[in-house]
Amino acid sequence: PSGRIRRAAVHHRVSPMFEKILIANRGEIALRIQRACRELGIKTVVVHSEADREAKYVKLADESVCIGPASSTLSYLNVPAIISAAEVTDSQAIHPGYGFLSENADFGERVESSGFTFIGPRPETIRLMGDKVSAKDAMKAAGVPCVPGSEGALPDDPKELVRIAKSVGYPVIIKAAGGGGGRGMRVVHTEAALVSAVNMTRTEAQTAFGNPMVYMEKFLENPRHVEIQVLADSYRNAVYLGERDCSMQRRHQKVIEEAPAPHIPARHIARIGERCADACRRINYRGAGTFEFLYENNEFYFIEMNTRVQVEHPVTEGITGIDIVQEQIRIAAGEKLRFRQKDINFKGHAIECRINAEDPFTFVPSPGKITFWHPPGGPGIRFDSHVYQGYTVPSHYDSMIGKVIAYGDTREQAIRRMRIALSEMSVEGIKTNIALHQELMMDANFVHGGTSIHYLEHKLAAKGEVKK
Ligand code: ADP
Repeated sequence: PSGRIRRAAVHHRVSPMFEKILIANRGEIALRIQRACRELGIKTVVVHSEADREAKYVKLADESVCIGPASSTLSYLNVPAIISAAEVTDSQAIHPGYGFLSENADFGERVESSGFTFIGPRPETIRLMGDKVSAKDAMKAAGVPCVPGSEGALPDDPKELVRIAKSVGYPVIIKAAGGGGGRGMRVVHTEAALVSAVNMTRTEAQTAFGNPMVYMEKFLENPRHVEIQVLADSYRNAVYLGERDCSMQRRHQKVIEEAPAPHIPARHIARIGERCADACRRINYRGAGTFEFLYENNEFYFIEMNTRVQVEHPVTEGITGIDIVQEQIRIAAGEKLRFRQKDINFKGHAIECRINAEDPFTFVPSPGKITFWHPPGGPGIRFDSHVYQGYTVPSHYDSMIGKVIAYGDTREQAIRRMRIALSEMSVEGIKTNIALHQELMMDANFVHGGTSIHYLEHKLAAKGEVKK
């Protein structure tokens, strides 16, 4: 009996919450993380480049540290500068946000070996999932369905390549094991084009990612991008927070995301969601994560896992009422998950439009000073943005300046609210893609729901044809 009591005591021990967290990111996500920390009573340190010195979110933080010049290689990717900033400010943990160092296993290791907590998965998990070949192997072993393709990395022998492609079936896609951000991929339709395509992708992969390893998948012609959000603690408890449909993409970059995914039966989601939660328990996953799938003919095919918070996390927060960033922090502090799968209820519908500083139809970036700014509001509208009137959008970083998230009891209501929000928004001094979002919110196929990953590109190409 004493053994049981001792075990119970261990079980109920709650590690003390952090007192101070360093945010190793910029822009809207740096502000989002700050808000989560505030609500948890945690002090914040924001690191920033010289280009972001005057930003209001930097001033809002309890402390800020300039870590280098505008170029992200010298600032937001500058590991020694970030670690020293954590040291001089007595921070206990580091939140990497998304992009930058968030999926860099070496950074996670440096953070932990310097005595800080990395708010994310263990470095070995990041490494496993960062190599798409090992990630697919791990997922296959865990019973997660994957896109059919080569067994692991591709060999050099041209005869072997031809044999593998034949068995997978054309068209195939050659992908870099170390790829990311929609780069390092090439579609091959015929045997004649195969060998040179593999060689070119290999060379590109070596240059861009320092890793020449490539693999082959069946190229799915008309899939949707549907992903599953998970949360797992350090004690092998894991839940899934439903799905997001991120099929509205341009150049493999997401433009609009929503939850739930239209027209996919809840029981299909539950089945794949359980698989993902189970995979988390098997690989001893820790933190928030996303399993990305292509969805075609009612089947899910795993393509990769993101081991960090995602841009589109607010749509999931909308339908579950769970604050994903706060849960990341609680998990990193050693807390057990506060809910089980049966406690999670999905309610309503949420849609997110990414607002970028760019021409709405040519997509040329449009940095510069915002001379007039009127953000949207009203029932069901959430607006995550770090910008304001007088703010200068720097040219050095990603062009996203905010996210409008519309929530409704139904998808129709969420769309109506999004249309109103976009019509209220007013931005002068720079161009934004608001007009593109307005057009998409009126698009009959979007309104019907369930368009494929190629829909937006096809629509834009057709418009170009009309103009010519
Ligand atoms: P990245 O890490 O660069 O984002 P992903 O593996 O997630 O790479 O793929 C990004 C996008 O590329 C997908 O959302 C999809 O649009 C397209 N894609 C990737 N693999 C395939 C495939 N097997 N068939 C069709 N499209 C694919």
